[in-house]
Amino acid sequence: MQTVDTLIECRWIVPVRPAGVVLEDHAIALDAGRIAAVAPIAEARERYTARERVQLGEHVVTPGLVNAHTHAAMTLLRGVGDDLPLMRWLKERIWPLEAALASEQFVYDGTRLAALEMLRAGVTCCSDMYFYPEAALRALREVGMRAVAGIIAIEFPTAYASDAEDYLRKGLATRDEFRGDALASFTLAPHAPYTVADATLERIAMLAEELDLPIHTHVHETAAEVEESRQRHGARPLARLDRLGLVSERLIAVHAVHLDDAEVALLANRGATVAHCPASNLKLASGIANVGALLAAGVNVAFGTDGAASNNRLDLLDEMRLATLLAKGLADDAAMLPAAQALECATLGAARALGLGDRIGSIEPGKEADLVAFALNEIETQPCYDPLSHLIYACGREHVSDVWVAGRAVVKKRQLVLDVDIEREVLASAAAWRQKAQVLLRTAP
Ligand SMILES: [Zn+2]
Repeated sequence: MQTVDTLIECRWIVPVRPAGVVLEDHAIALDAGRIAAVAPIAEARERYTARERVQLGEHVVTPGLVNAHTHAAMTLLRGVGDDLPLMRWLKERIWPLEAALASEQFVYDGTRLAALEMLRAGVTCCSDMYFYPEAALRALREVGMRAVAGIIAIEFPTAYASDAEDYLRKGLATRDEFRGDALASFTLAPHAPYTVADATLERIAMLAEELDLPIHTHVHETAAEVEESRQRHGARPLARLDRLGLVSERLIAVHAVHLDDAEVALLANRGATVAHCPASNLKLASGIANVGALLAAGVNVAFGTDGAASNNRLDLLDEMRLATLLAKGLADDAAMLPAAQALECATLGAARALGLGDRIGSIEPGKEADLVAFALNEIETQPCYDPLSHLIYACGREHVSDVWVAGRAVVKKRQLVLDVDIEREVLASAAAWRQKAQVLLRTAP
């Protein structure tokens, strides 16, 4: 008998690797934050004594969901700019409010709110892009979430930094500060080709190689962005990024809504990732990324919620369902993006893009134990012929029952495992920021 920390017994496991497999009546043994074994329940009981045994019954356990693109702090701006297209949304609502409000405290409070929302929705890791990444990391790590912080770069000054060089310097200092944290990692995050100059992008390409970091950037989000780049730079944004050395297996191209066939082939040939954010793209009327074509070409695809200011949910189940429905509709092919593939994009696909593919994203011995359990014994999920089908087409985030990050339970029976005060503090700070934003909105021109 071997002693392990936790033995999770459940009706179904979707390990993501091997692809498409559903294990029935299996258990997962967790020890020292990692997956020690996956075995039939009877066999696991014979082999392991567990300090804690979790008997889940009619549940399915999957790898933790990985949100490949968000601006966590922007949860504090949820619902302030609905029904506007991207540029008006940014110029009339988001940028003025951010200019007045975005501070270290704003980022800490907003990210804590986002983190609690994501954990309850089975998201165990997020790739964030925002000002004050050190405050975001503090917030995410405090509630036990795995976090990938973007070292943001943008040319214009904010309260956080004065110019692109200053953003990079501060972001790299944050990376140094969190070097000892096993659950924190980084991307280089130039905001977008239209807000970052050539020299900065070249520097980022070099830094990515030197520091072995992914590059996380918004690209080809709207048709207007592509046209503006053609006029200003004589090239479409992706061609410009390629000229400056950024299109490689390190690139996480967020949105990639407006691509021609050659651009799809370029992303595939270079081994780049597209972070598909269908809800945000639909809400801002930016368009619909052709994920079916990207996957068919061999592009790695991950899903992101984008910020809650343009979504307005941080709910990857919602994104998975939308992604697969849109892919089918766009291709006029019901076989497009089946459930198993959608779950793979939201787990292993995103993990790979973030340089975490050998650590998380699937339920395999040796990997770190980021896991989510969904209750399938409820009204909305009965009867259950195929748990994988339910995960994508029937479940909502309200079916998430238990969540583990690196073997530690962060949600138990739908309750966050936290110091009670954190939840109360988060709600109080959200109300206080709403009041401040409302004053600004009332006095806005
Ligand atoms: Zn975004």
